[in-house]
Amino acid sequence: MSKEEVMGKIIGITGGIASGKSTVTNFLRREGYKVVDADTLVHKLQNPGERLYRILVEHFGQEIILENGSLNRPLLAKRLFSNPSELEWSKETQGEVIREELATLRDQLAQTEGVFFMDIPLLFEQGYDSWFDEIWLVYVDKKTQIERLMNRDHMNVEEAQARLESQWSLSKKKKLASHIIDNSGTQKELVEQVASLLEGGVSYSTDFLEG
Ligand code: ATP
Repeated sequence: MSKEEVMGKIIGITGGIASGKSTVTNFLRREGYKVVDADTLVHKLQNPGERLYRILVEHFGQEIILENGSLNRPLLAKRLFSNPSELEWSKETQGEVIREELATLRDQLAQTEGVFFMDIPLLFEQGYDSWFDEIWLVYVDKKTQIERLMNRDHMNVEEAQARLESQWSLSKKKKLASHIIDNSGTQKELVEQVASLLEGGVSYSTDFLEG
């Protein structure tokens, strides 16, 4: 797309676990684009004293805090995943705060950026579709996705499959996205597809992929 076409756009980036979203957003940042990262935001909001931290501690009590003041994530996960109603509460309550904070960042960037990106792993699952002019899906076939996840996070095949099952499949998401970026090949091929989506021939470097 040309520079003119790209102006005034908010583009959502999504995919599945280990599908290659970070590789895409690292490239976009290197090209000078602003990218909001939903996972990073959530982590920040769960730091001592921040909004999600306060909500969680109020609900679960002091015992979910470690001695150094940070959240005891394994204990929190145990509490959530052993009790469906706690999990539902957490998804809804945290989800609302995250949506609000993401909306604030979106509105701020809309004032200064012609185009910017928001990387939201659960974009479809959590109904962010309507925020975006375009949604780029970083797609990979299931077999490759499982292999990359096992490699990156040192999981066995059962653990990797269980993680995939907690999200919508990439074939389902494929039907909902406006643009598909196929990451079944090399990272260089991935980045080349992004570059051609940006403006069909932008000058860019893939040096950062080596080493
Ligand atoms: P998550 O949301 O789970 O953090 P992600 O979608 O951001 O994951 P990446 O971290 O970019 O995915 O990629 C997942 C793993 O697969 C990483 O270890 C990355 O180096 C590797 N990877 C990504 N793309 C390719 C590729 N085309 N070829 C080989 N390995 C790749």
